[in-house]
Amino acid sequence: MSDYYEILGVSRSASQDEIKKAYRKLALKYHPDKNPGNKEAEEKFKKVSEAYEVLNDENKRHMYDQYGADALRGSGMGGGGFSPGGFSSMEEALRTFMGAFGEKGGGGGSILDSLFGFETEGSEAVLRGASKRMNLTIPFEEAVLGAEKEIALTNFMICPRCDGSGAKERSSIKTCSSCGGRGSIHQSRGFFSMMSTCPHCRGQGKTIAEKCPECSGGGRIKKRRKVQVKIPPGVDTGMRLKMGGYGDAGEGGGPPGDLFVYITVTPHDFFKRDGDDVLVELPISFSEAALGCKKELPTPVQGTCRLTIPEGTQGGKILRIRDEGMPNVHGQGKGDLLVHVIVETPVSLSPKQKELLLEFAKLEKEQNSPRKRSFLDKLKTLFS
Ligand SMILES: [Zn+2]
Ligand SMILES: [Zn+2]
Repeated sequence: MSDYYEILGVSRSASQDEIKKAYRKLALKYHPDKNPGNKEAEEKFKKVSEAYEVLNDENKRHMYDQYGADALRGSGMGGGGFSPGGFSSMEEALRTFMGAFGEKGGGGGSILDSLFGFETEGSEAVLRGASKRMNLTIPFEEAVLGAEKEIALTNFMICPRCDGSGAKERSSIKTCSSCGGRGSIHQSRGFFSMMSTCPHCRGQGKTIAEKCPECSGGGRIKKRRKVQVKIPPGVDTGMRLKMGGYGDAGEGGGPPGDLFVYITVTPHDFFKRDGDDVLVELPISFSEAALGCKKELPTPVQGTCRLTIPEGTQGGKILRIRDEGMPNVHGQGKGDLLVHVIVETPVSLSPKQKELLLEFAKLEKEQNSPRKRSFLDKLKTLFS
């Protein structure tokens, strides 16, 4: 199973638009109607459809980025029509294909037009703005408590002077004389009579006599602005926050794109994350381990908690303190604090300490070291 991004020939940071474009191109190339009886094309068609099905869906793409294709199978994340082992049937692949081309909407171009190379540019008049991606690194403490961050963006915004119309004055907007304001014209091509976008007004149905001086008629201007990003408690590296409508403004009245903020959390010296659980190492002396002790520990949520180490605790033991881990990013409770006990062998002993330990050694009994005893028992059977 090769990588979905590789299958579509796009980078991991590709925008949803880029993914859609790449899929449409490949799906048209390998479509079974165009390659009758070609098994290889059929396989390729299924593969690109499967890749697109995942990468086109933000949730699935996120799961795939974090956990790979396996995470999407059998876990119920696949949603409709995702069978184990990817797309097994052509039916599923075709459904994806219809979906990807159906969305085009309006425009008059049918799937068949696209399939056989009659490019219609029906959707050119109204274009959704591009979505943006941005990386944000936050300290561990902000991942725990959540934060509000100000970030600066340079985006296309609706031109304030012409309100997006691209015209200097309202009166400079005229109805297109070529298409009479319809935005499309009829064209004959062999047996087909097709609607296609009016080349004169590029589907707008109107022309502008005098362009807006601010945006040169484009209706949008590039502008730097500041945006507040709300970071929920519990975010982790690799998660992305979607800020709907914070991408580029659309063209010709189209909807704006989105902003995706990719989070990186700086590692902490003391706490290590494992999902919502937090792991911390606690070194204790060998006498503390043998006799038991009480310890006070810092928690990620800027507090402390008390922990009882029972008598006879072995090195490597992990003690779990409930609900003292990270808050869940979806607001579903908290993880646990996992305390990894490390028993430290004493070093730099004084003569007095050595003397006491020697005396202790003389008094040691088999039952003091059950693991050592079972090890010796096993050795005996090995050599008997
Ligand atoms: Zn303008
Ligand atoms: Zn026109």
